[in-house]
Amino acid sequence: MEINIEILKKYPLCHRCFGRLYAKLLHTNNFERGKALKLVKAMELESLLKKIEESGEGNKDEVLELLKCLYRSGLKEIKIKEIKEGEKIEECPWCRGIFEKSHIEELANKAIELLKEYEFDTFMVGTHIPKEIKELEEEIETPYMESIRQEFGREIGKIIAVKMNKQPDKTNPDIVVHINPYTKDIYLQVNPLFIKGRYRKLVRGIPQTHWHCRFCRGKGCEKCNFTGKRYPTSVEEIIAEPFMKATKGTNEKFHGAGREDIDVRMLGNGRPFVLEIKEPKIRKIDLNKIAEEVNKSGMVEVLNLEYGNRKDVVFFKNEPHKKTYRALVECEEKITDEDIEKVIETCENLTIYQRTPKRVLHRRADLTRIRKVYKVWAHKIDDNHFEMKIFCDGGLYIKELISGDDGRTSPSISEILNKKCICKELDVLEVHDEETS
Ligand SMILES: [Zn+2]
Ligand SMILES: [Zn+2]
Repeated sequence: MEINIEILKKYPLCHRCFGRLYAKLLHTNNFERGKALKLVKAMELESLLKKIEESGEGNKDEVLELLKCLYRSGLKEIKIKEIKEGEKIEECPWCRGIFEKSHIEELANKAIELLKEYEFDTFMVGTHIPKEIKELEEEIETPYMESIRQEFGREIGKIIAVKMNKQPDKTNPDIVVHINPYTKDIYLQVNPLFIKGRYRKLVRGIPQTHWHCRFCRGKGCEKCNFTGKRYPTSVEEIIAEPFMKATKGTNEKFHGAGREDIDVRMLGNGRPFVLEIKEPKIRKIDLNKIAEEVNKSGMVEVLNLEYGNRKDVVFFKNEPHKKTYRALVECEEKITDEDIEKVIETCENLTIYQRTPKRVLHRRADLTRIRKVYKVWAHKIDDNHFEMKIFCDGGLYIKELISGDDGRTSPSISEILNKKCICKELDVLEVHDEETS
């Protein structure tokens, strides 16, 4: 293989940077590698110089020129007087001294000061380098090169890891320390904490997530009593509050596996959710204690709380969960026992064509969804009321399945009975995790 010593004519790379060009060869550090390569070359050149001086043949200036370059790049071991007297060591244009002990320690200490504010186990260093350094790197690149970002990140990471007794982790770090070693800019990216579990909503009248007041859009106005909120509370707020207190996060995001309407309860084994807590200062919290606090609200309960990760959120968004509902149906006309039988029979594995309900048209695209009802259980309560349990695909709007939404949902309970029905009460009894039959 060819060692490109000529590069030193253009750029006086220090030992470490010269060694980095061949970092993937041999297990040693870049400084040793670079210095060794330069030493071998300098020895070769000095012996060549002697031969030229003895024989009087050959190009002495050319050899001297290369020796000068080696000297300028930091090879002080070259003691011949022509060079020592006229040359001085130059600053390396690639690293510009960022690996000097005092410089790297200063940056590590600065990072540690910022990190001390946070509880974490794992971290990663993200190194940012100026454009001109990156361009230089691209110009001199060899197939064996390691980038300076990689080496710097590793070196400062080692110092931080030892001083703070924490683990570097490239795949899923709690905190990423972003450092530009050239400008000394440092900032932290504190990754969110994910808590997953299931919630039960025991009361009607609260939304799943916080809604802004529609008059002031959250700023606070007379209409909302300067709360900025359209509803006094929500499942999200009731769950998030004790978490925010315990973790001292800056913000949160509530991800539910679907949502129920404001007037619908969520019962049974609850609905899966993930709470994403942004920039938490504390990550180790007592989940049981927090569950107790949420449950004290009397409005919302949480079950099966555990630590999650970002993948859980993605899973939610892609997974259509089948549901079981309980609905109280009111009918204008008298309901007969035959009607009940008809509903049960007709709804077995029934395909429903549902155009976006009128009531959500303002926020959802107008299209026809195909969903299935698998099974219905029903019993009469009085002449104008019956109760249904419905096991169906996620994403089916139940209120419209009952009313028919002026023909936009078909077939519907109203259509099956040829009697006008509406949903008076709705509860989600079960959000099914997987295929259930
Ligand atoms: Zn250098
Ligand atoms: Zn308002």
